[in-house]
Amino acid sequence: MDKQQEFVLRTLEERDIRFVRLWFTDVLGFLKSVAVAPAELEQAFDEGIGFDGSAIEGFARVYESDMIAKPDPVTFQILPWRAEAPGTARMFCDILMPDGSPSFADPRYVLKRALAKSSDLGFTFYTHPEIEFFLLKDKPLDGSRPTPADNSGYFDHTPQNVGMDFRRQAITMLESMGISVEFSHHEGAPGQQEIDLRYADALSTADNIMTFRLVMKQVALEQGVQATFMPKPFSEHPGSGMHTHLSLFEGDRNAFYESGAEYQLSKVGRSFIAGLLKHAAEISAVTNQWVNSYKRIWGGSERTAGAGGEAPSYICWGHNNRSALIRVPMYKPGKIGSARVEVRSLDSGANPYLAYAVLLAAGLKGIEEGYELPPGADDDVWALRDAERRAMGIEPLPQNLGEAIALMERSELVAETLGEHVYDFFLRNKKQEWEEYRSEVTAFELRKNLPVL
Ligand code: GLN
Ligand code: MG
Ligand code: MG
Ligand code: MG
Repeated sequence: MDKQQEFVLRTLEERDIRFVRLWFTDVLGFLKSVAVAPAELEQAFDEGIGFDGSAIEGFARVYESDMIAKPDPVTFQILPWRAEAPGTARMFCDILMPDGSPSFADPRYVLKRALAKSSDLGFTFYTHPEIEFFLLKDKPLDGSRPTPADNSGYFDHTPQNVGMDFRRQAITMLESMGISVEFSHHEGAPGQQEIDLRYADALSTADNIMTFRLVMKQVALEQGVQATFMPKPFSEHPGSGMHTHLSLFEGDRNAFYESGAEYQLSKVGRSFIAGLLKHAAEISAVTNQWVNSYKRIWGGSERTAGAGGEAPSYICWGHNNRSALIRVPMYKPGKIGSARVEVRSLDSGANPYLAYAVLLAAGLKGIEEGYELPPGADDDVWALRDAERRAMGIEPLPQNLGEAIALMERSELVAETLGEHVYDFFLRNKKQEWEEYRSEVTAFELRKNLPVL
């Protein structure tokens, strides 16, 4: 047994922890959990715990369904909302096949493979997410409109604001689980919150996002409200993005930084952005995986000025341009060694493991192939006319999930990065979602057509 495993077993005893939850994530990004008694843990560390993979979205077919969850002791944390003795703790798991080889269905393994490729090139990949979500009074199940938990707006600081108490409690809980928070504030829409996590290596960040979603839902319930990470719950308000700042390090040197270069951005940084741009459309089905994701992206055009709230619709990059898909922030000009890239397409309903894997793969492709970075867009790209955008070579993101799937189907990059198993399952699942949606007669059509046709 290694030191970390020993530490876990000792802590269980000292803290009187009787339940250990083993966590993993399905292909669509939903958290799964199985609780084991502490007495079983030594064996779980050695051999893992068996479960029926066919019952998990995207994992296995019924005739090859035995799978194994093996806890990663480094991810051990006590669950603070279950802190009183006897307590509960959790660990993230790697998913294995019965012969002990890693499962190709495990999103964590998809990301680990992408990270291994990055480290072969000498890079460590860091991410820093800005996570937006809504607090609602209710979550009606019949398709009717939910009620936001408050009526505040961007950066509002009002007494009696449910969000403020919420954020204090939520952040305290995250910090007690070792997840550091950098900023938090009320976002633009009623009930909308944003909490930004401190940057960390991408695997830890993806694990942290999974924990984050659960903690937000838990704290919301304690406050008599509900949290949702749905990308766009309200037509007339901005949706919930998960803007993510990316950087590559070579040892302790930021590989995107070059002193004196434009925006302090090195050649590596420029090619990485070029890769993100070139592959943005084909990775969209992964970074924006729901029918609803495209309502966020396209809710904010000139047609509905302001309603979309700064979600990017067009594939371009800019320096201080919040209509761009990729922004190179420079809040502190001249800060030595600092350079990063903010991707603004990603939404809060994504599977973070898969999304980070495809973003990294796209960026690395740009570096490997030496892609040239096209000129940045300084204008508000929403305000331009279609012809102007075309003249500038600025393409739109996919209009909807159907288009995104069609692009992913032709993408070697996505196939290679996700691996055949996840790629096939994902496409099948998303096609089904798109077909269901496409065949549904919506409230919009009834409202528009019934009175006049
Ligand atoms: N909510 C917006 C989005 O969907 C972002 C708003 C902001 O952080 N400036 O991307
Ligand atoms: Mg922000
Ligand atoms: Mg924001
Ligand atoms: Mg941002």
